[in-house]
Amino acid sequence: MAKRLSVIDVDLCVGCQCCMFACNRRFAEAGLSRSAIHIKSVGGFERGFVVTVCRACSDPPCARVCPTNALVRREGGGVTLHMNKCIGCQNCLKECDIGAIFWDKNMNKPVICVYCGYCVDFCPFDVIKLESIRGE
Ligand code: SF4
Ligand code: SF4
Repeated sequence: MAKRLSVIDVDLCVGCQCCMFACNRRFAEAGLSRSAIHIKSVGGFERGFVVTVCRACSDPPCARVCPTNALVRREGGGVTLHMNKCIGCQNCLKECDIGAIFWDKNMNKPVICVYCGYCVDFCPFDVIKLESIRGE
């Protein structure tokens, strides 16, 4: 069954960015430039944070606009990126309504959640969770 990352309680997020660092570490790199999950302040610590990550749409608009089929609909929801087919046109980046496609400037390719759930274990406050997608 396909999985997706869900935001369980955004009010518990303290903006530590541990999830972002964990995601980037998948590439055996320090920093945040290749993270597929982003945490942003909504304006001051007291107002909290926004967690932006792919919601695994059942009919993903990002895949529909890909001219080379580099980004394809994943069974159950969300998308899979075939790097070797991507021409870096950024159509997908513009089409995702929630801004969940980030950009790897060095590789000139999109960075999108692969629904691995690696970040989940690094969130100290249980803000995010890997969930099975049912009936989509
Ligand atoms: S990247 Fe955006 S449009 Fe594409 S499946 Fe994820 S949430 Fe949907
Ligand atoms: S940037 Fe790559 S994955 Fe995105 S729409 Fe263009 S070719 Fe497809």
